[in-house]
Amino acid sequence: MADAFICFQCDKEEARCLCDKYCNLCHGAHNVRLCQDGQYYCLDCREACDFHAQV
Ligand SMILES: [Zn+2]
Ligand SMILES: [Zn+2]
Repeated sequence: MADAFICFQCDKEEARCLCDKYCNLCHGAHNVRLCQDGQYYCLDCREACDFHAQV
């Protein structure tokens, strides 16, 4: 398995992260996932910026 993405705020994996999750770009909370830079992004912003959530 590839390296797990780590939340930049709490240094935990997405499944263990208890931070408020919202998109780093548009601040929306819909369908946000942790991406490779350690920040959360919604689906629209992930597609727009070519970020990918952990599988
Ligand atoms: Zn976190
Ligand atoms: Zn967004």
